[in-house]
Amino acid sequence: MTPLDGALWLVRHGFAVFPADHPGLERCGGIGKGHDPATCTDRGKHPCVPFTRAHTLDEDQVHRTFGDRLRNVGVAIGAVDGPDGGHLLVVDSDRPGAIEDAAGAFGYRHTPTMRVTTAKGHHDYYWTPGSLQLGNSLGALRGKFDGDVRGPRGYVIGPGSVHATGVLYEVVDAEQPPVPAPAWLLTALQTPAAPAAPRPAAEGSAPRGGSLARLIAFVLASRVGERNGRLYWAAQKAFQHARAAQMDARAVADALRDAATRIGLSTAEAEHTITSAYNSRNAQ
Ligand SMILES: [Zn+2]
Repeated sequence: MTPLDGALWLVRHGFAVFPADHPGLERCGGIGKGHDPATCTDRGKHPCVPFTRAHTLDEDQVHRTFGDRLRNVGVAIGAVDGPDGGHLLVVDSDRPGAIEDAAGAFGYRHTPTMRVTTAKGHHDYYWTPGSLQLGNSLGALRGKFDGDVRGPRGYVIGPGSVHATGVLYEVVDAEQPPVPAPAWLLTALQTPAAPAAPRPAAEGSAPRGGSLARLIAFVLASRVGERNGRLYWAAQKAFQHARAAQMDARAVADALRDAATRIGLSTAEAEHTITSAYNSRNAQ
């Protein structure tokens, strides 16, 4: 697969592309500020154009850009909307299995999605709800994940490109499109990187705002005697939040059930409370 092949595959699958430096060029083709093309030490990765504006979904343009010139393929992450107006998020594992291990550290299984292998690991492409503003911050993944995430203001090097080591970027399964990012991952990315120690919630108090991470923390801080009440309240808010953020309600229910069983409620009891909350008017 050449960069042209990769770029054509990308635009045919709805991803906007732009030219990036190719390690075969004598000097870096990158245009970054404060960047000297002659002494660049991170070859094959730098955008040759202002990619947030200069990207394309047009096949003729792709032929002109990649057909007879040595260029790697950049993917402009923020240039396309997914199903239901969602944004693209790319999880960049710096070694094979890094995101699988991070998922395990949070008590979840990795959710398989569109994957591109890189020189060191792989890129996993996910859709995130359009209402979420995710940046490049790792949030709670910091220290638990060997890699990075790239949100709508970023880019990644795409399939068909060549790494400075000579390794090709390759699509693992050309039939696998991006899937919605799992709730645990969205929650982790929205959690501040270095959270203050959780404040014990006072009797009858409730967390401000409605983010899932705060609601889960609220459930986890419950004492015996208040667990079901707090779970019910948090579940109502969480389902409201999920509806607004177009998150999968089942994933939210899973996260709530997980928290509830960790504070000692039985699975059946947790299930009953969560289902009641889901069916209540306040959750609609
Ligand atoms: Zn460069």
